[in-house]
Amino acid sequence: MDVRNCPKCGKLFQRLRRDICPACAQQEDKEYEIVRDYIYDNPNSDVQTVSEETGVAVETILKFLRENRLINVSEALLLDCELCGSPIPSGRFCKECGEKLEKEFSSLNTKKDGLNLPKSDKKASFHFMRDRLVKRDR
Ligand SMILES: [Zn+2]
Ligand SMILES: [Zn+2]
Repeated sequence: MDVRNCPKCGKLFQRLRRDICPACAQQEDKEYEIVRDYIYDNPNSDVQTVSEETGVAVETILKFLRENRLINVSEALLLDCELCGSPIPSGRFCKECGEKLEKEFSSLNTKKDGLNLPKSDKKASFHFMRDRLVKRDR
């Protein structure tokens, strides 16, 4: 059984599909809906404004971007590729690294060098003064 502390509230919980406890997951889903609806009505808002207007932390909004639950359609690049650090609009890796990873994974059994995943992306720098977010197509 995989029991761990919820990174949000610190409570112990049994890990199933998500990295946070069920209560926090529910809360996050609610926040996602709020953010999504706000962006739908105000597609030109920057992350800072969205955060202030919805009361959802900037960090949480960026997390949604990283998980591709929100799509950033502006020219602004909010996130860093987890491998090379290149600025990317959403998701976890830039196009090049994404392709490289796919290749690495498909040849994982024959070759094991060359792939060095950083543990944390906490230090990623974000630029979100003039960006836009948009709701994923329905
Ligand atoms: Zn929690
Ligand atoms: Zn990259």
